[in-house]
Amino acid sequence: MTKLIQSLALLTLIVTAEAVFAAGEAVPIKTIAITEGLHVLMGRGGNIAVSTGADGTFLVDDQYAPQYAGITEAIKKLSKDPLKFVINTHWHGDHTGGNEQMGTAGAIIVAQENVRQRLSTDQVVEFFNSERPASPAIALPIVTFSKDITFHLNGNDIHVFHVLNAHTDGDAVVHFKQANVLHTGDTFFSEYYPFIDSGSGGSISGMIKAVEQILALADDKTKVIPGHGKVSDRKGVEEFLTMLKAAHKKVAELIVAGNTLEQAILAKPTAAYDAKWGGGFLKPDVFVSVVYDSIKRSVLD
Ligand SMILES: [Zn+2]
Repeated sequence: MTKLIQSLALLTLIVTAEAVFAAGEAVPIKTIAITEGLHVLMGRGGNIAVSTGADGTFLVDDQYAPQYAGITEAIKKLSKDPLKFVINTHWHGDHTGGNEQMGTAGAIIVAQENVRQRLSTDQVVEFFNSERPASPAIALPIVTFSKDITFHLNGNDIHVFHVLNAHTDGDAVVHFKQANVLHTGDTFFSEYYPFIDSGSGGSISGMIKAVEQILALADDKTKVIPGHGKVSDRKGVEEFLTMLKAAHKKVAELIVAGNTLEQAILAKPTAAYDAKWGGGFLKPDVFVSVVYDSIKRSVLD
């Protein structure tokens, strides 16, 4: 029985890893208006936010390299100005794959210092055994920050701040203050169980703290752009936080009671949440594995 579970889980992991981390073929970009001068671009990979206006174009994340042409075309429809800044919310390839082309085109890439550190060297996402070689210099963030940085562009104070050991060790949340819009990077997924990259310094308790920080900035009118999934709001983030806290508590209890990973998966600790969150790229048993792994090794748990 245990062997069967393990091989099923392994199969799910392999399929999932291909779906999540392969650059694949370019897909068309869909542009969604959030407010005047602020749009979301959806294609393949993480959600992109783009701010346009008199002060220049500002991008949050850049998906995979094959998406570059489509992203550039979508931005040109919003503004004729060249792209000035690209923020990376973290180092994963579905958020930074366009860096080389963006950097070559003259954009200034900005990220938390751990993102530059990881992109500068060969990386492995251990949970999926997915390798990524070091990026060329032109693809690296040339401006880094430790805690936060603020941009004053297009009528917005755009506060980009680091949240500790959440999805990775280099996550940034982007707060467009006047627009009342947040881009959360992968600290929030609006429709599915999230991945937590413990091998890159992420942890479920850090993710819970990050989501609490996001909620503290949101009111009933705030629009919240998740790393993945449709554009959400304060209520969507609250539901995500409730699910994360329950998963953390239940899996931690199973670990304290001496359960192995296989036993923890069989106990179905996330059953009450699986219908809402388990139909995405992390199925319930894989999400339980992610949480179990995080609690076992986390720097914060
Ligand atoms: Zn990610």
